[in-house]
Amino acid sequence: MTLMQVFFATAIVLLTVAAMEGVAWISHKHLMHGVGWGWHASHHAERRGPFEKNDLYAIVFAGIAIALIWFGTRGAWPLQWIGAGMTLYGLLYFVAHDGLVHRRWPLRWVPRHGYFKRLYQAHRLHHAIEDKDQGVLFGFLWAPSEARLAEEIRRVRAVRRGPADQSARSAQPAQPAQAAHAAQAADIADQPGRL
Ligand SMILES: [Zn+2]
Ligand SMILES: [Zn+2]
Repeated sequence: MTLMQVFFATAIVLLTVAAMEGVAWISHKHLMHGVGWGWHASHHAERRGPFEKNDLYAIVFAGIAIALIWFGTRGAWPLQWIGAGMTLYGLLYFVAHDGLVHRRWPLRWVPRHGYFKRLYQAHRLHHAIEDKDQGVLFGFLWAPSEARLAEEIRRVRAVRRGPADQSARSAQPAQPAQAAHAAQAADIADQPGRL
């Protein structure tokens, strides 16, 4: 490879990683929380055993990356570098989502500052609503700003209080279950590291 080819290959890999976050957000919101909920629901429920049906999505994306690399190395440049970018994104997803947020490998670190804290909080907020249609924050590597997080926490609290409470706030005392939900949502805001 010439230096120029190395430069282009690296640029394509990095651009693909960035673009994949957009692809992941859109497919998480419209596919996984849409017609593909049959697989994704397992990720919004208690996991039994080491795997969940949602892992099939990782296999599908890995299959696409392998196919791109296969075609790319047989002459269809630059598909192999797009496939490599998808593979790198998958690796980062595995570390951040499966590892940092969901503890599927023994990582004890709870980030308290900066990007990793915001990333962690954002995905915990996604899981604070286990409803197919009312989800928030569908990304995996993009960390929203503190202001955006605060806004999403308000939205999550409103959803968890239920529609009656949104229209006629405090008209009647909250049901115990609603109160518990609201308290949990308050935890998200006040003790974000301990979700
Ligand atoms: Zn989801
Ligand atoms: Zn998750």
